[in-house]
Amino acid sequence: MSFTTPPRPFDVTALTPRLAPLARTATRLHPRPGSPTVHDSSVGGPLLWPADEPWPHCEGPHDASLAEDTPRSAEDIRALRRVRAASAERRLRDRRAPVRTPEEDEVWRRHGGGRPWFEGPVPMLPVAQLYARDVPLPARPAGSDLLQVLWCPCGHGVSEPRTALFWRSAATVTEVLDAPPEPPAIEKDGYLPRPCLLTPEQVTEYPSTMELDEELQDQLSDESRWEAAGAEWDDGEAEDPQDFYFRNLATAPGWKTGGWTFWSLTDPEPRDCPTCGTEEIPLLTIASSEWDDGSVSWRPAEDPADPAQHLPGDPSEPTLVDIRGGYTLQLHVCPASPDHPHLQIME
Ligand SMILES: [Zn+2]
Ligand SMILES: [Zn+2]
Repeated sequence: MSFTTPPRPFDVTALTPRLAPLARTATRLHPRPGSPTVHDSSVGGPLLWPADEPWPHCEGPHDASLAEDTPRSAEDIRALRRVRAASAERRLRDRRAPVRTPEEDEVWRRHGGGRPWFEGPVPMLPVAQLYARDVPLPARPAGSDLLQVLWCPCGHGVSEPRTALFWRSAATVTEVLDAPPEPPAIEKDGYLPRPCLLTPEQVTEYPSTMELDEELQDQLSDESRWEAAGAEWDDGEAEDPQDFYFRNLATAPGWKTGGWTFWSLTDPEPRDCPTCGTEEIPLLTIASSEWDDGSVSWRPAEDPADPAQHLPGDPSEPTLVDIRGGYTLQLHVCPASPDHPHLQIME
């Protein structure tokens, strides 16, 4: 199975050639539920982690009073997801089927009630593992061919889990840790990614509207330019030509590496490396959805338009990750050195 982003509605450089040098390649990961192994690129899958290397822990502080949701163990969350999937499948076959069977009620009683909050350092959770053979990794350090991303199971009161990045050479991992520790509780279900396999696809991106200079913004707003280029912007969704550009021609939604930073909540902020001042570049975007109503033109051709007919679950939310009710967490790295701290931007 491969996934194909439909061609963009038109070539945006026809509107203004000044955009041409700003084109960047992003690699959409197209995560879909599966059973990845340590040798696969994955979201939420097992990591190729050396048996003799300590598993990363987050030192906190972790304030129970700031928890967004009922804290549950990974086992609880997996059990409840199985029940929800079984229910969805049953009701897809027969709309009058019960939402829950007595057995499923029992699973809810056992796993739904929540777990005690944790004290002290807590094991981090695997978020993504990307092999360079599968996915281009910007600013990849020499000698490494594998990126592993983990995060704390707690949002630290800002609904934005603290992430940790590890670069390594897969060939140096001879003995793999087979049972990594799991946190006793996870702040909310959306912080446990459902295991997914990836089908990377490269697309071209341009900067978010707010990151363009004034002249380019004016050119994109100029309806006569669109007309002259034979480009239709009024698709019934876009408020104006700039909005059409932003939704359909600038940055791709969903999990991806590379490309341009996506700005929507805030004005663009400096992304200077705290150590050396170099501007950090987008490495990995962790997304709550692969597309939404505002970015539906990016829906892969292979995915059904009607998610209600799709199993397992909505194809626009394959990983079940939720960043503060639908946002993205964009990890940026310093191109000067992998030892410099990375930045995370939530939009
Ligand atoms: Zn933490
Ligand atoms: Zn730096």
